[in-house]
Amino acid sequence: MGDGKIEDNPKILSGPVLTNSPNAVLSKTLLNRYNDLPLPADKILATYVWIDGSGEHLRCKDRTLNFIPKTPKDLPVWNFDGSSTGQAEGHNSDTFLLPRAIYKDPFRRGNHILVMCDTYKYNMEPTDSNNRVKCQEAYDKCKDEEPWFGIEQEYILLDSDLRPFGWPPGGFPPPQGPYYCGVGANKVFARDLVEAHYRCCLFAGVPISGTNAEVMPSQWEFQVGPSVGVSAGDDLWMARYILHRLAEEYGVIVSFDPKPVQDWNGSGAHTNFSTKKMREDNGIIEIEKAIDKLSKVHMKHIKVYDPRGGKDNERRLTGLHETASINDFSAGVANRASSIRIPRSVAEEKKGYLEDRRPASNCDPYSVTDALMRTCILNE
Ligand code: ADP
Ligand code: MN
Ligand code: MN
Ligand code: MN
Repeated sequence: MGDGKIEDNPKILSGPVLTNSPNAVLSKTLLNRYNDLPLPADKILATYVWIDGSGEHLRCKDRTLNFIPKTPKDLPVWNFDGSSTGQAEGHNSDTFLLPRAIYKDPFRRGNHILVMCDTYKYNMEPTDSNNRVKCQEAYDKCKDEEPWFGIEQEYILLDSDLRPFGWPPGGFPPPQGPYYCGVGANKVFARDLVEAHYRCCLFAGVPISGTNAEVMPSQWEFQVGPSVGVSAGDDLWMARYILHRLAEEYGVIVSFDPKPVQDWNGSGAHTNFSTKKMREDNGIIEIEKAIDKLSKVHMKHIKVYDPRGGKDNERRLTGLHETASINDFSAGVANRASSIRIPRSVAEEKKGYLEDRRPASNCDPYSVTDALMRTCILNE
């Protein structure tokens, strides 16, 4: 039996503890009566989504538009009360939302949209948690190298009492082993939510490339990408938004904490990265050059691979559970206990991509992709 202590982890979730999710008991079909209401033909609903002051959690609000936008630039700049999201002082609280990427809205369908935004202070300087601006700058400088990112987002589902969903009350499930890519009612929990998420993302235009059940019961993974440059961050944040939003309906909670339960598998956001040269014949030479550069700035990357400068990843990168120690850099072919893994197929074909296994599940993908572009392409 696993003997980890859930209670010892202070940060499994930041948010209120409820004994029962009120959402789970609401009728799931009643809304259909109103979804059918015809809306005026010239009205569409837009949900603006942004990262709050934690750098980790998302907020959203809705507005009506009387046109169908073609690009994010067509959309109005909007604002919100930054003093309620950790992004401004009360006396100067107007914070601006700049639309950056448009997705189709899988909840409302039709012409309705989800809009990924970044945030700016009253003086139009980026807010402290806006890491997109720097990422865009890096991408602008190396567009010709065509940086691609495929991010493997691991997460766990929690019941409203903050215990992993489906775990026996007061205890632990049998040890990990049968759950990874598992099938069967005693091995995987909430597959319907995962399936709904997969479909919603593809509908929305988020390029999900796959999904699988993970090592700890109620732990799952989906992969986004390959996405090009700064859009990798947009795509992953929107995939996270859709997951939180769907989980709301099911009355379960999504945790991106990198080590929810001691002694059980943690959650990462392995980031698969390539440039045009790496994907061409003999690209393995470029991959090895990139790994050499990464080996020299290990701690610099660790600092931006979770929202707390490495503190969150300290709990996860222990050297156990298919991780490398947070203090050491290592790389290897097919080695899941190293910082960087070259997939076996890449080594055989001598071209392709590398996998950076260090980013934590709650990382900001704008920061991770920014650091990879700057170290491996821009030589900063
Ligand atoms: P793992 O074997 O580590 O579990 P996954 O299959 O979960 O790997 O994820 C692999 C990821 O790598 C996917 O998101 C995929 O889109 C991405 N990927 C594949 N080829 C490339 C490439 N050339 N550059 C960047 N990412 C890539
Ligand atoms: Mn994977
Ligand atoms: Mn995984
Ligand atoms: Mn992986």
